[in-house]
Amino acid sequence: MNDSAKENTRIDSLGLTLMFSELRMPAIKNTWEKFAEQADREGWPAGRLLWVLAELELAERGRRRIQRHLKEAHLIAGKSLSSFDFSAVPTISPSRVRALASNDSWLKGGHNVIIFGPPGAGKSHLASAIGLALVEQGKRVMFTRTTDLVQKLQMAHRELRLESVLEKLNRYDLLILDDLAYVRKDRDETRVLFELISNRYESRSLLITANQPFEEWKNVFPDENTAVAAVDRLVHHCVILEMNVESYRLRHAMKKKKEEGKKKRGRPAKYATENNSEGLTSKTED
Ligand code: ADP
Ligand code: MG
Repeated sequence: MNDSAKENTRIDSLGLTLMFSELRMPAIKNTWEKFAEQADREGWPAGRLLWVLAELELAERGRRRIQRHLKEAHLIAGKSLSSFDFSAVPTISPSRVRALASNDSWLKGGHNVIIFGPPGAGKSHLASAIGLALVEQGKRVMFTRTTDLVQKLQMAHRELRLESVLEKLNRYDLLILDDLAYVRKDRDETRVLFELISNRYESRSLLITANQPFEEWKNVFPDENTAVAAVDRLVHHCVILEMNVESYRLRHAMKKKKEEGKKKRGRPAKYATENNSEGLTSKTED
């Protein structure tokens, strides 16, 4: 290649890189030269080069989309299925939970999940972990405390924007309402919650965590009829997970304390020879 031909190639390269930048194709912009060289060296047909570059760009777009969806999901940081100890909740079938997390067909039918359990049982962890698995599969999820969402809906209702806000929420394949039972008993508040449930019925899924059984939900909605109507819609297509276990934190703390006690009691042999028995006694008892 003579000097002027080289100059032309260089100018073309810069121009092409700029065009990819303008076309917002960052993956191709950053890698096309490397692949073009490989294609020249190995005699690829032009179609193969285009295919490789298009695939790269699509993969990069998918990755960035998932990052965006993760950000908007507001999941609880660090809560995944791999960090969830299923042996602590014998009432829950791990395969059932994994099926919900790995197969999104229930979202397509607008089916729901309700997780019941006392405080500390692991409801929020499990809900967030299922949400995370679904986001990683390309689904749009939003995790919110029920009270926060209800307040937003209530404000929208006052400003005559409730319908458009509910419409916007429909872009999420799954809404996770954490701690339903903590909604205050207030007619206006609970009315918007009922509107949300009705709006999503059979089209968009809800995952609800609650520490009160259905019988107590009449305290969550303004009257018994609304409560029955809400429960009726929610359970029509629904998986119910019962976590009838004591607080995980409490059990964990008690187990740790027991183990510490055992360690201290098991320590004496070496310890006693190096220390006086008085010190040992006071250590064991604390
Ligand atoms: P809940 O929402 O039912 O009140 P959380 O999900 O907030 O309970 O759980 C309380 C804490 O205990 C969290 O830090 C959570 O990660 C942890 N936890 C609860 N259950 C489990 C479990 N089975 N495996 C691992 N961590 C758990
Ligand atoms: Mg919780």
